[in-house]
Amino acid sequence: MQLYSIKDLELAHKRVFIRCDFNVPMDEYGNITDDRRIRAALSTINFCLDQDCSVIVASHMGRPKGERSDKFSLAPIQRRLQQLLKRDVILAKDVIGEDAYAKAQALKPSEVLLLENLRFEKGEEKNDPKLSKALADMAEFYINDAFGVSHRAHASVEGITHFFDNEHKAAGFLLQKEIQFFGTLLKRPVRPFAAIVGGSKVSGKLEALINLLPRVDKLLIGGGMAFTFLKQMGYDVGNSLVEDDLLQDAQHVMDEARRLGVKFYLPVDVVAAQAFAPDAVSKLVTVQEIPQGWMGLDIGPATVRLYREALNDVQTVLWNGPMGVFEMERFARGSSKIAHFVADSYATTVVGGGDTADLVQRIGVDEEMSFISTGGGASLELLEGKILPGVQQLVIEEDA
Ligand code: AMP
Repeated sequence: MQLYSIKDLELAHKRVFIRCDFNVPMDEYGNITDDRRIRAALSTINFCLDQDCSVIVASHMGRPKGERSDKFSLAPIQRRLQQLLKRDVILAKDVIGEDAYAKAQALKPSEVLLLENLRFEKGEEKNDPKLSKALADMAEFYINDAFGVSHRAHASVEGITHFFDNEHKAAGFLLQKEIQFFGTLLKRPVRPFAAIVGGSKVSGKLEALINLLPRVDKLLIGGGMAFTFLKQMGYDVGNSLVEDDLLQDAQHVMDEARRLGVKFYLPVDVVAAQAFAPDAVSKLVTVQEIPQGWMGLDIGPATVRLYREALNDVQTVLWNGPMGVFEMERFARGSSKIAHFVADSYATTVVGGGDTADLVQRIGVDEEMSFISTGGGASLELLEGKILPGVQQLVIEEDA
């Protein structure tokens, strides 16, 4: 899938609107704890500045639900962006109000204006064309570099693309890189190709599993979702997380794996606990011996060994979803062991965004991965085989 590229636009000295995803995590004091998403947008912003563009940057942060609130102001983003760009960034007091418009009009070449949180406007999440038009009217060009939110049909992501023709809109470098990476992964992976899929529920990943099956050589399951499969296979999984309404779907996934010759792996042992709590009594058991009333909260050491063995010969690894409740230290070991093994491997290693990206960063192996996506939900939708709403209008139609 080819996207209109920022490189092909005649941007010099023009006014450019760049939709970024600066939805970064913050601590209780309002300090940015991980600025990866801001750093990831720098190449696109700098590319425009190098061409003396007047650059208007916009992003959402958190869920202010259409109301202005200091808690969700982009002021901390402005400060970090200034540091990273090493130049002044003007912060508008609003999104499409008088202040934003006046500042946008007065913006000189090579200056950067950051609009306030897009979600202060009720129309943003509703994809309101009035808001899209008001944003579009600020600039001559539109660049989408907000991969993390491109699976949402929002006013600054999808609606706005309808107000620019193909010579005046494009994907930024980050968006292009993400789309290309996942495209190659799904179409032309270097084999053997293994997907490690974990996380809480089968329901959240079912479509991705079905879409991945014809593409992968091995599928390794972990996390809470493993228990729906195990129950369907006849194991007594105690109080572990199970989606009873998805037992047939789990069977379908296993049947498809068999039909397609995909090697399908489930945990053979787990860390079982008496309760879902960081200090709960826990023990290592095989999946045959989960005590009544206990729940599996992590994969066990035998599973880690088995998965290492299975991953030994692979050339490409895709990892989406933790192997256990990694937020609690006692149940983070399985994910940590797998993270270290994946990081050390010579294979191309791709980490889906969200929790898994968070996890590898916490463990400190993020630098060793080939690619870490900046979008959890967006990368999952790509794995499901969907075209993201924010990308749809930026795709170059191929000649028949
Ligand atoms: P997801 O958003 O579907 O990728 O799921 C991520 C969440 O799954 C994390 O918050 C984990 O705590 C949770 N999780 C992983 N393993 C288990 C498990 N065995 N039981 C319950 N929750 C789990």
